[in-house]
Amino acid sequence: MNPYEIRKDFPIFSRKVHGKSLIYFDNAATSQRPIQVLEAIENFYRNQNANIGRSVHELALSATETYEASRKIVATFLGAKPDELVFTKNTTESINMAAYSLLVSGIIDRGSEIMITRMEHHSNLLPWVTVAKLAKAELRVVEVSDNGRLSMDDFYRKLSDKTRVVAVTHASNVTGVVNPVREICEEAHKHGALCLVDGAQSVPHMKVDVNTMKADFLAFSGHKMLGPMGIGGLFIRRELGERLDPPFPGGGAISLVGCEVDRCTAEWLSMPHKFEAGTPNVAGALGLSVAVEYLEKIGLENIEAHEKRLLEKGMEILSGLGVKLYGPEETRERIGVLSFNIEGMTPHEVAQLLDSEGIAVRSGHHCALPLVKRLGAPMGTVRASFYLYNTLEELETFGEVLRKIKILAS
Ligand code: PMP
Repeated sequence: MNPYEIRKDFPIFSRKVHGKSLIYFDNAATSQRPIQVLEAIENFYRNQNANIGRSVHELALSATETYEASRKIVATFLGAKPDELVFTKNTTESINMAAYSLLVSGIIDRGSEIMITRMEHHSNLLPWVTVAKLAKAELRVVEVSDNGRLSMDDFYRKLSDKTRVVAVTHASNVTGVVNPVREICEEAHKHGALCLVDGAQSVPHMKVDVNTMKADFLAFSGHKMLGPMGIGGLFIRRELGERLDPPFPGGGAISLVGCEVDRCTAEWLSMPHKFEAGTPNVAGALGLSVAVEYLEKIGLENIEAHEKRLLEKGMEILSGLGVKLYGPEETRERIGVLSFNIEGMTPHEVAQLLDSEGIAVRSGHHCALPLVKRLGAPMGTVRASFYLYNTLEELETFGEVLRKIKILAS
């Protein structure tokens, strides 16, 4: 794959930032979108716009068809069946949907245990804290090692027959560490627990198959994988989904509603519609399906290999500069995310200086405070994260700018 060819599809790379060519290394926060996605969204609103599922007119039927065709494309991409994919707003909403559905369905109840890890993004932590509180369930947190690897010993120690769900990230948005999610899900199942995988950082960057990883839930965001903001997904294994009650019901989620004087009842639609009450983001689903087709055309294996080259080069440059790097040295266990600090400067100061040279990175705690504290970086880190359109040349420039920043800091 040729990143220089790929970049031609991304209009944003023709703009300047502070008079410099944009070097976009903030892909773990959100990716850029290719022209194919932008045009599909515009075309939907220009030529096809109607609400789905409710009317019999031509536009409504064609919008419904587009929405369901998009579901099929995105579900197939993950090895799932179309009725196993619920469209949501983003990973955060997907995880809340899963957590609250386990609560309202009585699967998480008083005295049961919910297992998360210290590596989680707040979006895979706070929903469980709230649901545990509501259910009077107990939260158990699996520890990480000094360099940010998950402690599998601690996982085995804390997993019990009271565990109802294990919620774990596939890849860390701070260190890029990839967790052995298949082993975790299989082990959870042995104890009768369900397994939720946060795929926000893995689905965009590697081939993810829900059957291989044995997840019961998989959450992800469209905006991190070339799709628009405001669309994401929650895979729910079909047999499980059929058993669950929807936590956020409303119009479009029911087959029948009846109200007698002071008592109303509802019969839910089948999967996935019972989880999709209200008007969905049809253009977003379409945009995401076009993004998925774009990624598939290039090949997830090629994207992963390209990012690995960028990661290796990035690590080489940063180690050469003697900056503090977080996470394991072994690139085999990581996606293209590099967290570091320069002594004598805060992460925000470094990010601002990089920005003045047109280089976009993220700084701070990356919505993963328990992890950055554990890594010994209470102020957070500077994070550079890569995607298919980044080049080795951009990394060279990044290295040169960092060299100057390091001199300023000393
Ligand atoms: N989990 C992980 C691992 C993430 O990196 C992110 C986004 N930074 C999220 C969850 C939340 O994603 P979103 O903001 O799209 O809901």
